[in-house]
Amino acid sequence: MIVQKYGGSSVSTISKITKIAKNIKNTIKDKLIVVVSAMGKTTNKLSLWAEKISKDINKRELDALLSTGEQQTASLMAMALLGFGIKAISLNAFQAGIKTTNNHTKALIKSIDTKRILNLFKTYDVIVITGFQGFYKKNITTLGRGGSDTTAVALASALNAKCEIYTDVEAVYTTNPKDFQSAKKLQTLSFETALEMASAGAKVIDERALEIAKKYNTQIFLGKTCENDKTKGSYVMNKDFLEKPKVFGLSVRENIILCEIHTKNISQILSKLKNLNLNLEMFCVFDDKISFICKKNELKTLEKALKTVKNLKLIKFYDNLSKYTLVGTGFSTHPDITEKLVSSLEKKQIKLQNLVLTETTISFLNTKERSREVIFLLTSQFDL
Ligand code: ASP
Ligand code: MG
Repeated sequence: MIVQKYGGSSVSTISKITKIAKNIKNTIKDKLIVVVSAMGKTTNKLSLWAEKISKDINKRELDALLSTGEQQTASLMAMALLGFGIKAISLNAFQAGIKTTNNHTKALIKSIDTKRILNLFKTYDVIVITGFQGFYKKNITTLGRGGSDTTAVALASALNAKCEIYTDVEAVYTTNPKDFQSAKKLQTLSFETALEMASAGAKVIDERALEIAKKYNTQIFLGKTCENDKTKGSYVMNKDFLEKPKVFGLSVRENIILCEIHTKNISQILSKLKNLNLNLEMFCVFDDKISFICKKNELKTLEKALKTVKNLKLIKFYDNLSKYTLVGTGFSTHPDITEKLVSSLEKKQIKLQNLVLTETTISFLNTKERSREVIFLLTSQFDL
């Protein structure tokens, strides 16, 4: 499911609405929610009318009036889509179940009853929903100027859908490209950066919408209306995804022994080991099994010490191993690096032993014989 939002200037004329509907017809692949703003300067015009008619504007009535702007676009958009043979229906916020606080003209979305929407998707492919409005106890409320972005992101968050926000601007830039020709397009930016830019006045997307997106980790695509090439726009997403993992290097140690001990008394083993001054690496306890690695020249001392432990069920030593360690950042948050490593070894039928993953290292053991092959594979896979 995708939520697309079209801003006021993108729907300011009948021909622009028709063009969007046609583009939707040509590109639709998934169930689609289309959130619309009021046409062009409609909200300004309605506010002005209210100011002319009353010095002390009743806020409930003002919301009732302002909400009609989005209602116009929503029904017009649904008509245009129907004209292109798309199964479409429009809903206002009340019909769509967007509940808010009772704070007229600046209401906050409290919940969205997604049942109706999901039910309608059994019959319809596109549901057009009015932006900027909600309801409180059968009264229409509005979310404040620029509130349609919030509607779109809140719907996407509630429905676990992707969110696409379309305006007249191609993408988000480092600075305003109208003022600085050298402004660079930002392909991706974090919620934090987008929030900072929005509060600094850049026309990114409404701040409250960004706050919801950050809270629910809803990725937002920002692009130009009817531009279907996604590489031209910007993505606002979680910082974790932006920080690409990096592999800095590979270190290899040979002559490693892997020791496996089955015992019910783990602390007893540890108390023996502590006196041996060993460097316990890749130390792991699983049920009643302990495993760790040591150097080949430490093996004799180790064997000797373990012999003095009573009731040891089984001790196994695997010798002639090499330990490979990829060093870098972001490994535990980016399992794709580990996946790449494992799958490239699997393809060559190189068996992995004891892989250990941390945020900054991926270590594993393998027999010494295939050392050259493993090193070649890893350096070429990770550009080292
Ligand atoms: N129509 C409202 C406004 O002009 C809401 C929006 O477009 O986001 O502020
Ligand atoms: Mg806006």
